Amino acid sequence: MTERVGNWAGNITFGAKELHRPRSLDALRDLVAGSAKVRVLGSGHSFNEIADPGPAGVLLSVADLPPVIDVDTTARTVRVSGGVRYAELARTVHGHGLALANMASLPHISVAGSVATGTHGSGVGNGSLASAVRAVELVTADGAQMTLARGDDAFGGAVTSLGALGVVTALTLDLEPDYLVEQYVYEELPLEGLDFEAVAGSAYSVSLFTDWRRPGFRQVWRKRRTDEPLSDFPWARPATEPLHPVPGMPAVNCTEQLGVAGPWHERLPHFRAEFTPSSGAELQSEYLLPRGSALAALHAVDEIRQTVAPVLQTCEVRTIAADEQWLSPAYGRDSVALHFTWIEDTAAVLPVVRRLEAALDPFGARPHWGKVFTVPGAELRERYPRLGDFGALRERLDPAGTFTNAFLADFVDPLS
Ligand SMILES: Cc1cc2nc3c(=O)[nH]c(=O)nc-3n(C[C@H](O)[C@H](O)[C@H](O)COP(=O)(O)OP(=O)(O)OC[C@H]3O[C@@H](n4cnc5c(N)ncnc54)[C@H](O)[C@@H]3O)c2cc1C
Repeated sequence: MTERVGNWAGNITFGAKELHRPRSLDALRDLVAGSAKVRVLGSGHSFNEIADPGPAGVLLSVADLPPVIDVDTTARTVRVSGGVRYAELARTVHGHGLALANMASLPHISVAGSVATGTHGSGVGNGSLASAVRAVELVTADGAQMTLARGDDAFGGAVTSLGALGVVTALTLDLEPDYLVEQYVYEELPLEGLDFEAVAGSAYSVSLFTDWRRPGFRQVWRKRRTDEPLSDFPWARPATEPLHPVPGMPAVNCTEQLGVAGPWHERLPHFRAEFTPSSGAELQSEYLLPRGSALAALHAVDEIRQTVAPVLQTCEVRTIAADEQWLSPAYGRDSVALHFTWIEDTAAVLPVVRRLEAALDPFGARPHWGKVFTVPGAELRERYPRLGDFGALRERLDPAGTFTNAFLADFVDPLS
């Protein structure tokens, strides 16, 4: 089956004229081995050209390969095929009385595509979603199969790989016993006098939301595991009805709030699996920087909020524990993430993105790989200290550069 495709948000149309959807592993291996340029498209939720193979390349999806979700209740692991999305994975894992440690804001994204870009949820003790991965199964450029597992020398490059090593056909993830989560939303948290560490550490997963139209945060979302202590939250007033993070939007597609306990996968994402989170009329950018700089960085954004607010739908502030994936934006440092959901007007948004990047530059901000950014390749090399190691691994597994594209060539180039 073939079709011309773009991404979920509709701001990118891929140069490749077709989307190939092999139905068997053998067909996939033949397609890859016979192609000079290949990129894989997951669920297409990235906002830039990261997945684009260019006009002469092959764009392929693994979504039509036979789906696999094999839960090992004894080892507490799950082996999941490359096309599976978190919503489906979470339901199956929950059905076995087990759980993932964390999820992103929506469950509609593919597991392979999410961990490839360093996708994360929130929580001072929670690493990015890639930190749950124990093993990655790949089809490399010559059509061969290989597995890289935790403990292997190359594993640090294997999971958050930006799709540059090969086609991920399966992943094995850590699980833990099932748990319940209560979600509480609060309104109007001041920036002045904010004790960021106390607020961010006040529950298992905490997000702050603001529109930057005036100082401070419009909402705080706290997700508390019921097997952890319940702490007071004296800094903002509890919401009395369910809220959507974008002021004025109906809360019907948001996960349940007001402290009603529910399964982890129905509370950790902000949006319900059975609803499309929005029409896609948005762009997103996000920057991760050391958590110790959170307050200073928030004040730096506050100083330019009159530039930011006119093109902003909402800004979310989250925390991510340090991880060991070389290209993870949280590599080696406990991080705070400043996320921006923009209006869908690229021409109006890009100058603001540049202004924002200048404001966050002193903090060594690392952009989310799947979102809109303009940080040049030379800067990325400074901010990702293991990019050189990743380039060497890419060169070893894919010497002809079958899985590189224009987006990656800007910074992943072992010869430069
Ligand atoms: C509404 C919305 C909400 C979001 N919320 C969050 C959030 O809470 N936290 C966060 O961190 N990010 C978030 N994101 C960003 C999103 O998680 C990332 O863009 C993620 O990469 C999307 O996964 P995907 O499967 O759609 O990947 P795609 O955009 O399809 O691909 C991303 C990369 O993965 C590669 N890839 C995909 N599948 C494979 C495979 N099988 N083998 C090899 N390479 C592969 C692609 O080539 C590409 O390089 C959000 C995005 C949207 C649209």
